[in-house]
Amino acid sequence: KKKIAVMTSGGDSPGMNAAVRAVVRTAIYNDCEVFAVKEGYQGLVDGGDSIVQMHWQDVRGYLSEGGTLIGTARCMAFKERKGRKLGAKHLVERGIDALVVCGGDGSLTGADLFRAEWPSLLEELVTDKEFTEAEIKPYKSMSIVGLVGSIDNDMSGTDSTIGAYSALERIVEMVDYIDATAKSHSRAFVVEVMGRHCGWLALMSGIATGADYIFIPERPPKAGEWQQELKDVCLRHREKGRRNNTVIVAEGAIDDQLNSITSEDVKKVLVEIGLDTRVTILGHVQRGGVAVAHDRWLATLQGVDAVKAILEMTPETPSPLIGIEENKIIRMPLVESVKLTKSVAAAIEAKDFDLAISLRDSEFID
Ligand code: ATP
Repeated sequence: KKKIAVMTSGGDSPGMNAAVRAVVRTAIYNDCEVFAVKEGYQGLVDGGDSIVQMHWQDVRGYLSEGGTLIGTARCMAFKERKGRKLGAKHLVERGIDALVVCGGDGSLTGADLFRAEWPSLLEELVTDKEFTEAEIKPYKSMSIVGLVGSIDNDMSGTDSTIGAYSALERIVEMVDYIDATAKSHSRAFVVEVMGRHCGWLALMSGIATGADYIFIPERPPKAGEWQQELKDVCLRHREKGRRNNTVIVAEGAIDDQLNSITSEDVKKVLVEIGLDTRVTILGHVQRGGVAVAHDRWLATLQGVDAVKAILEMTPETPSPLIGIEENKIIRMPLVESVKLTKSVAAAIEAKDFDLAISLRDSEFID
């Protein structure tokens, strides 16, 4: 009988609750015991009351709740081997032999490292006399499965991440609100959206709201030239009768020389052509609220598959990441996907923007 733990880690994203619910119920359905680790890796490091057994009814109502009800955190201690050793100790203490981590690339990097180090962490725990050889024997391998919970949609190898469509929906709703007041006053608005190194939220919301101009890190405009182009586009739209302008700026926007482009930079340019311009930084409203239907079913199907993957895993199976490709739930090697995701940022830094885009679009078929 397997004992499976589930946690949410890193930045919260709508749909994480649906993922936890699916893992809990699929585990119970398959006769496994299931535990929630509170506050991400911090709960592993703390042990005790931070690791609680979950029952069917504990996740009742989870589908329609925003955020993550089992908590999330950024945990510095887990970045140190000492913290990971404590995590291993607390899992073995509870007899847990599988872990589902729902988080972004940082959390999944941590998960991968944890699994790679697992045998040596256990050896150390025996040397430290925390456990005997006989006690650790049943825990020689730890099954780890990743689910990508991130509003940024920045993971390579999967079409969408849990939370991305909810954040997109929220942005579009907010831009519609802004457009209404902008039109009334004939104003221009610069709307800054989240996404760090990934322009997906900016691009998709820009298309969905008919923005005049969109700044994303993967397709940076030419340094020193974008200003005139932006002016020309906005003026042309005004000449055609548009009463407002909307410019969407990804928080990680840059020009092709890697200089950052901030919403204030954009505002300055628009003011130069006489537009009454305001900046709205959407901030954390993008993460808040309940998950849209897409994220609920994505998280549910992926949570179910995470448990299935655990039940099918052998000690030799590389840790899988559950993704979605062309509407099919897929498993891909966690390490490869995290590596690819990190190489996108490296390609951008090397100014190879085409490579960045192709790396993000890379596919894994199991
Ligand atoms: P988001 O995309 O929302 O930022 P994330 O999962 O990438 O989510 P991070 O803050 O990067 O968020 O990581 C979350 C936690 O995962 C960290 O606080 C830390 O506990 C753990 N973690 C991240 N990177 C590593 C690593 N290299 N080694 C061990 N643990 C890590």
